[in-house]
Amino acid sequence: MTSLLSDGSWDHEEVHVRTTRTGLPVVFAIHSRGGSGVALGGCRLLTSSNADDALKDAIRLSRGMTFKAAAAGLQHGGGKCVIAAPTPSLTGAVRRDTLLEVGDMVEEFDGRFATGADAGTDTDDARVLRERSRHIVGIPDLEKGWGDPSALTATGVIVAIRAACERVFDSDGLAGRRIAVLGLGKVGADVARTAAEEGAQLYVSDVDLQKKAIADEIGATWLGPEDLLGAETDVLSPCALGGVVNRYNVAGLRCRVIAGSANNQLADPTIAALLRRRGILYVPDFIANAGGMISVAGELDGYDEAEAMTRTLAIRETLQDVFGASHALAVTTVEAAERLARTRVGARLGIGSEQ
Ligand code: NAD
Repeated sequence: MTSLLSDGSWDHEEVHVRTTRTGLPVVFAIHSRGGSGVALGGCRLLTSSNADDALKDAIRLSRGMTFKAAAAGLQHGGGKCVIAAPTPSLTGAVRRDTLLEVGDMVEEFDGRFATGADAGTDTDDARVLRERSRHIVGIPDLEKGWGDPSALTATGVIVAIRAACERVFDSDGLAGRRIAVLGLGKVGADVARTAAEEGAQLYVSDVDLQKKAIADEIGATWLGPEDLLGAETDVLSPCALGGVVNRYNVAGLRCRVIAGSANNQLADPTIAALLRRRGILYVPDFIANAGGMISVAGELDGYDEAEAMTRTLAIRETLQDVFGASHALAVTTVEAAERLARTRVGARLGIGSEQ
């Protein structure tokens, strides 16, 4: 196993780059094992043949998982596994063999890292990983836990949208709000359905045109991804992949709130300041999407459904603190949220001072 332990430019406990027998790069990044000794984070399949892309993704996402755990009051730290595959989806026997091999790699961490489904992988894939490792979470037919964490993630995103609307519009009601959801996957479809049920006016988009059926079902307006980003709305909810708000499109955004599930929604950290200047309230992704981590953490901690829901609903109070601090200290919501996360865990998590 190649081990690139923290070299000063990273603040990770461990970073490992592996190669499967079929030549696919697999990166494991353990940013922190937190107070519990376990780094928690999903196993994602990235469409890229480039190990550097997987490395960057894993480094960034694992750090976000540490912040997410801390802000949600969990004892665990953050980690991530990224498999880079040149074609959009590995299929059949190659997919299964790859996942079995990755499961073996997860087991080698001997419990320092626990993982489950993530972008590009699903609970069937998690079951395959589970054939080789005891440290796989988020599987529906295991006795403890809710299985797929997407439902609780979506609940948390709705809580976040409400909290942001309360801050911006003095009302957390969704009836009549114009809400744009980018990505109608496991989380986005749930967010869109819930908002529609509550009387919001929905605009939706997905690169997968089959998702148009969901738009028809809930009476949403279907737009192309670029049109959706520029649509005049109250809330933009990015629920596809990261990097969706960048320096090229930020000036064209016509929403008042951004609150979604995607990790790393801002292409780079400076975008947060641009949004603040434009008067757009950005809900830090690692707070809005914490429901999923809360759900799977329950499988490691001794599962308590009521406590998982209570923690997810507490995203509202966390955001009230973040918005208040952002205003009082004249800093971005991202900076306010990271300060809050650091305060909640203290130096024990080893979060670097550059953040
Ligand atoms: P998913 O794979 O089920 O859905 C993603 C959807 O986005 C798909 O329908 C896909 O077609 C669409 N999409 C991809 N690229 C797009 C683009 N450029 N424009 C428009 N649509 C695009 O994933 P998910 O589980 O719903 O997660 C969505 C996001 O939330 C991901 O970034 C994931 O990392 C993050 N997240 C998910 C959870 C969870 O519990 N599922 C938890 C935390 C964070």
